[in-house]
Amino acid sequence: MTDESDITATPRRRPKPDVIEIGGRKLKPATLMMGHGFDPALSEGALKPPIFLTSTFVFENAAAGKRHFEGVTGKRPGGAEGLVYSRFNGPNQEILEDRLAVWEDAEDALTFSSGMSAIATLLMTFVKPGDVIVHSGPLYAATETLIGRILGKFGVQWLDFPAGATKEEIEAVVAKAKELGRVSLIYLESPANPTNQLVDVQAVRAVRDALFSGDEKPPIAIDNTFLGPLWSRPLDHGADLSVYSLTKYAGGHSDLVAGGVVGSQALITPIRMMRNTIGTITDPNTAWMLLRSLETLELRMSRAGENAAKVCAFLKDHPKVESVGYLGFLTDGRQADIYRRHCTGAGSTFSLYLKGGEREAFAFLDALKIAKLAVSLGGTETLASAPAAMTHLSVPDERKKAMAITDNLVRISIGVEDAEDLIADFDQALAAI
Ligand SMILES: *Cc1c(COP(=O)(O)O)cnc(C)c1O
Repeated sequence: MTDESDITATPRRRPKPDVIEIGGRKLKPATLMMGHGFDPALSEGALKPPIFLTSTFVFENAAAGKRHFEGVTGKRPGGAEGLVYSRFNGPNQEILEDRLAVWEDAEDALTFSSGMSAIATLLMTFVKPGDVIVHSGPLYAATETLIGRILGKFGVQWLDFPAGATKEEIEAVVAKAKELGRVSLIYLESPANPTNQLVDVQAVRAVRDALFSGDEKPPIAIDNTFLGPLWSRPLDHGADLSVYSLTKYAGGHSDLVAGGVVGSQALITPIRMMRNTIGTITDPNTAWMLLRSLETLELRMSRAGENAAKVCAFLKDHPKVESVGYLGFLTDGRQADIYRRHCTGAGSTFSLYLKGGEREAFAFLDALKIAKLAVSLGGTETLASAPAAMTHLSVPDERKKAMAITDNLVRISIGVEDAEDLIADFDQALAAI
């Protein structure tokens, strides 16, 4: 314990070096979430970082101001060395970014005002008119709108392959894309929502490296919202950038909206420049809440994962259930092989297909007493929704069918409640159908 008088007696203490290993043992993310990137000595000894509500920062002298701007504008490589203006960075966001990067062992990270603003900033960084984006499908609906309809207005083209595609199928699509124009980005989402199909990131990487050389190589970005960062670390399997809606598991309490991107310095730097320009950074208050969230990330995700395994085991053989689309039930075949190579857990979001149609799905949803009827996922509380009638209502029938979005589908995100209580709730709701 530090003596309080010590703090007032010392005018300004120098930052302590960050401890990231002890005796050759690399500290785990769960440990680093409590202190990494923040020195209490810089904030009056406060154990927790204060929320820095300021729009701008004071320069020590004019030369320092110039140096800062050289970094921010890219005149000097390496980015800003200090704090300049809150559209570029801030203490809360920088601590958060240091900690977010830890989970995937990434060189650098950026945080954004939402998952979509992270994705939009990423796309604007790498893509220009005439380029082709190759992506896995389906994607989060707003991402599909952004790529297809909004970037389409600016002359950007796209081609997709189904999330579960084989290496040969992926190769065929990428080769075709190369004929259309410059392929400037490969964008993945795994598992796909709501099909739960996993993308073979290693296969995508092999295809990219075989078909492109040197500077031509398009970065591979992947939306890791559903399984990251605990159950999937796609940077280990060949992705260059891992993208998050921090609104979901990372935030984890259904009380904020934010996004993140982690990856190598070389790729993060241009995204940072774009974020500096358009101002899609997260705000200090949300960053502070996310710091709190990250302290319990492993606890929350582990518990939710254990709960989901128990709930799915109960649902699986229930007479009113047609099938359960849960990654923990993959046993053989290609998907199980990808799962074994890429995932360390099955997550807590899954698809429940009830016997019947919309009437049965609605009766089930309306009867739930603990689980809340809401879209989103990854929070401490269990949520349930009907994609066909809600999130995917405007999707054309043909495409809905291709994605297995049927009227009897219920999407469930399991929280950290008591597993037996949740089972009791699902049991009575199934009985009410
Ligand atoms: C929620 C979500 C997004 C969008 O994130 P927001 O924080 O809502 O902007 C993107 N991708 C996936 C997979 C999501 O679940």
